[in-house]
Formats: sequence, C-alpha cells, structure tokens
Amino acid sequence: MPAPIPITRGEGIYLVDADGRRYLDAISSWWVTIHGHAHPYIAEKIYQQALTLEQVIFAGFTHEPAVSLAERLLPLLPGPFARVFYSDNGSTAVEVALKMAVQYWWNQGQPQRNKILAFKEAYHGDTFGAMSVSGRSIFTQAFNDKLFEVIFLDTPSPLGHEDPPEAAAHRRQQLEQLPWDQVACFIYEPLVQGAGGMRMHRPEGLDLLLAACRQQGVLCIADEVMTGFGRTNQLFASHWLQHSPDIICLSKGLTGGTLPLGITACKDFLYEAFVQDDKLKTLWHGHSFTANPLACAASLASLDLLLDPACTRQRAMISRMQETFLDTLAGSSLPVRNGRCTGTLLAFEVIQEKDGYLNTISADITRKALDKGVFLRPLGNTLYLMPPYCITEPELKYVYEVILEILYGL
Ligand code: PMP
Repeated sequence: MPAPIPITRGEGIYLVDADGRRYLDAISSWWVTIHGHAHPYIAEKIYQQALTLEQVIFAGFTHEPAVSLAERLLPLLPGPFARVFYSDNGSTAVEVALKMAVQYWWNQGQPQRNKILAFKEAYHGDTFGAMSVSGRSIFTQAFNDKLFEVIFLDTPSPLGHEDPPEAAAHRRQQLEQLPWDQVACFIYEPLVQGAGGMRMHRPEGLDLLLAACRQQGVLCIADEVMTGFGRTNQLFASHWLQHSPDIICLSKGLTGGTLPLGITACKDFLYEAFVQDDKLKTLWHGHSFTANPLACAASLASLDLLLDPACTRQRAMISRMQETFLDTLAGSSLPVRNGRCTGTLLAFEVIQEKDGYLNTISADITRKALDKGVFLRPLGNTLYLMPPYCITEPELKYVYEVILEILYGL
C-alpha cells in the first residue's frame, strides 16, 4: 500500500502536493467536488457564514441558511417534494430514508409492512442500515450476519453490453413472486450504481419497476448521493425517469464537495404521517451537525454555480467528449470492454482474468496516472472518469491521452 500523498492545496480541478506537484482530479475527489477545489465563490460564502453563525443545535432552533436551502432546493427536485430532513453525509441520508419509510408504515398501523427491496449490486453507504441495503460484497462480508434482511432484485438491463436473453424473464419472475403487501420500500441508485462498479442501466427498466412499486403502494427511495447535482446531465438522475421517487437522498455534490451535509427530502404525505400529537410517531433521529449553517451556506453557493447556464454548457461539453472517447476506445485494439457513459460519467472495464475490486490493476493504473499528473482511482478493473464540471477541453483531452498511454503500455 503506497503512503498517502500529503495534499497542501486545491486549485480548481487540481490538487497540489507538498512538493508542488499538481494532479488533475479526474474523479472529483470521491465524486463530490463538482465545481473544482477551493472555489473562491463558495469559500467566500462559507467565510461570511462563519462570521455570522457557525453552528447551532437544530432541535427547537432553526436558521436562515437551512430554510433558504430547503426553499431553493425543493422546487428543483424530481417530483413534488415538500420537506427536507438534514443530516451530515450520504450514509446518514440513507439511514434517515430507511427509517422514514419503515416508520411510515408503523405509524399507519401496518408494522408488518417492513420489508425492503434493493438492487443486488447496490452501494448505499458504510453504516449498518446502509450496508444492509447494499449488495453483499467485500465491503460487508465481515458483518453479513449482523445486517438486516433485504429482498435483492436484479438490476435492469445494462448500458454498454447486452443482457443474456433469460435475464428479462428472471426479472419478471422476481417481481411476480414478491410479497408485495409486506414491502415497505424500494431503494435504488437511479441510472448509475456507483461503488458497485459504475454499473449503468437503461431508464425504461427502472421505470417498469417503479411503476410496479407505485401500483403496490411501495415507497420509492432514490439514492442520488452520487448521481445528484448534474452528474447525469439532468439536475437529478430521476429526471430521466417517468416515475418520481417519494424520498430522495442527497449529499456529496450538495455542498459542491466542500463540507459534509446530507439531505433526505420527502413528499408531503410522508411528513404528515409523523407530525402528530402522539410522541411515539415522531421520527427520532438527529445528529450533532444536522443542518450545519456553514454547510448550508456552501450548498446555496454551490447551487448558484450549478444553475448558471455556463455550468450546463460545461456538462454538455464533457458528455460529448466522453461519448467521443468511448468511440475511440471501441475502435481500438485496447484490452477494454463495456464502454458506457451517462451524462458526464464514463466507465469501462480493463480486461483482466477476473473482474472486481481485488484486482491489482487499479493500484497500477493509479500510480502510472499520478506519475503523469492525473488522479484516477479505478474500482478494481473498472476505470471511470467523473471530472469536476469546470474542466476544460484541453484538460479532458490530456486525461484521455494519459489513459490511452497507460492502456497501450499494459
Ligand atoms: N449512496 C451512494 C450512492 C454513494 O455513492 C455513497 C458514497 N460513495 C453513499 C451513499 C454514502 O455516502 P457517504 O460516503 O457520504 O456516507
């Protein structure tokens, strides 16, 4: 395991280490830094907020940045969302969503409706609830016997390669056999399953599933922790779908990647199920840093940048270039397969004897790319690009050159 690189500064899409070496951050530092590092506009808004109110308990108190953020964000969400519940990272946003969905049925006097549906290759975070609804993998294996039971479904047909013919029949059969009247909710990463290997699926397949859930009264939870805030070239990936979720989980790009914050937004009927005189029907969940004012101010600033038409143009440019690069890869003799692209996000597999996280090719590619001033961090043999939206054409071209050079050298 190589020693961690001490980073002393961030400048737009670059990270600068203690020796002054610059690395182009082609994965937005774990998918969060959507406007680049140390953005002066966001930094200024955080500074101003820090001089005004840095933190306050969010129980019995509220504050302007939290209220403004809710008011600005709600109309942008995919569907008639009415309320936000603040927490402080992606995993907690998921925990809150699961608790909200399960307790909704409990509050309705239907506690038997408590089963949860999720996708096999899902990743929803590292806390126990989030791990439980994630696919069983090397991340969860030491804890599998401590995780609660979940009904896992096959993901819809993939982008990038064809499904075997029996896959669709298997999916249909799974749906027919579900104990629908015991199902509380279905949690999914719309269009792209991130840590599960940047697996991309077609919107139509997910829509079919959401339609079935709707029909059966099952609550739908979109985990847009990674796909939110423009990554798929819509503000939210759920905007590509016909069916909107009832609950949506947000984090990562929410603050432009500057400070930790989580949001679980829900529709009004869910909120109403908790606001009652009966104390037992309260959603008993809170974190010390819930709705931290600095993080809310950063989110408002990040939204200003995201909604600027210049940012939309940038994202369109990135998507076009990613598609073209996929064509280049497809037309080459390089050892790659399953090239796929959703919005600004591109991924493909480097052909190895076995797919998966335990491949040593990942460390090898990271090291070679760092030597050329680019930060890549493949998930096993899945190489992906998720650049900050402020990357320029020549900078993205340079990333492609570096990738090609590494692949030709394999
Ligand atoms: N959901 C998804 C889809 C994610 O990609 C992640 C993090 N990679 C999480 C939840 C968990 O977020 P956090 O790391 O902030 O807890």
